[in-house]
Amino acid sequence: MTKIVFKNIDKPEQYKIENYIKNGGYQGLAKTLKEYKPADIIEMVKKSGLRGRGGAGFPTGLKWGFIPKDSKKPKYLCVNADESEPGTFKDREIMEKDPHISIEGAIIASYAIGANVCFYYIRGEFVLCAQRIQKAIEEAYDKGYLGKNILGSGYNLDMYLYRGAGAYICGEETALLESLEGKRGLARVKPPFPAVEGLYKSPTVVNNVETLANVPDIVLKGADWFLSIGTAKSPGTKIFSLSGHINKPGNYELDMGTPLRHLIYDLGGGIKDNRKLKAIIPGGPSVPILTEEHLDVKLDFESLVQAGTMLGSGGVIVMDETTCMVKTALILMNFFKHESCGKCTPCREGTVWLYDILYRLEHGEGKKEDIDLLLKVCENIGGRTICALGDAAIVPVQSTIKYFREEYIAHVENRGCLTPFKFQLN
Ligand code: SF4
Repeated sequence: MTKIVFKNIDKPEQYKIENYIKNGGYQGLAKTLKEYKPADIIEMVKKSGLRGRGGAGFPTGLKWGFIPKDSKKPKYLCVNADESEPGTFKDREIMEKDPHISIEGAIIASYAIGANVCFYYIRGEFVLCAQRIQKAIEEAYDKGYLGKNILGSGYNLDMYLYRGAGAYICGEETALLESLEGKRGLARVKPPFPAVEGLYKSPTVVNNVETLANVPDIVLKGADWFLSIGTAKSPGTKIFSLSGHINKPGNYELDMGTPLRHLIYDLGGGIKDNRKLKAIIPGGPSVPILTEEHLDVKLDFESLVQAGTMLGSGGVIVMDETTCMVKTALILMNFFKHESCGKCTPCREGTVWLYDILYRLEHGEGKKEDIDLLLKVCENIGGRTICALGDAAIVPVQSTIKYFREEYIAHVENRGCLTPFKFQLN
């Protein structure tokens, strides 16, 4: 397996700039400023095929290329470190253990799009991440990687850390921008897209931490090197956060196209207490679940779509045979209804309706018609909301009914859930 983002992750005190530099850090930035014009970097990243690692999977170079060159307005880069997808904790490990790799990537990206100001937006709960990033920014200023005339190139960049308040919606790029502007984190209607009208109505790129952490090595080793890793359409590596009923949970950086079975059984050590595998969420709860029959699916953008799901954020949640799927959908719906920003009616009201129906099924007051009613409510949310949270919220309901309808029926017939743990939140 190739290691790009995690190549130095376990080296002692890698978060200190002297160790980062000793292990090859900031060479990608030095090469960028010495050898390339901004447009060359955009072309290189486009050619590499790097796609966003935060969830949407949008081609990174293409996103950078959307920034209008002739705009007189300032341009901004925002690092999206608002990692909040349940079961996803990869950016946190990068920021805590190797913060400079994302900062170096952010400086190169800022140079490529012509930004002189970069904001590093961190989820509020990530206290150690914020401390490590703040310290790393200060170290980078001291060494001349940030500030005026970086490495004598004439290029200036200031970077600011911004701590969010811990709202899931602020991981959505336009809500993140609202929050950065000091407003409540509500998603904006698109278009206009941030590349045209983003932060302070100026051209803006928002990139995820892991995405940016790939950039220094792409510059150093070239687009062809990156293309040689992974699959033809999903080049490079991806960090998967493995959690749930698994013997060895943790973050694993894998070549794109690695089989799911290898992650769960060889690296993750298999299912806890030798129980049977029941279901897997392969990319955070916003993507459809898979079952044991999908174990040989390859972990890359295209293969997962073919299997009826998505790569998402790479949060792989493993559930064993004791897991109640109605309760799973209920717990996830509790999350989505709480995190809905409330701006559009189908999401604000629909997530509460779904929660209420799931709650009564779980607690013995459900009717057989409720199963189809759930699907009908889902139909009326999907594709009718301002941002992707509405579409994400219906996924756990639709996919658990698709694969485990008999469990829903059993909840009606048995007058509730037969598993011991009772979910009693509001
Ligand atoms: Fe807000 Fe939900 Fe609408 Fe997104 S889909 S804008 S989270 S109410």
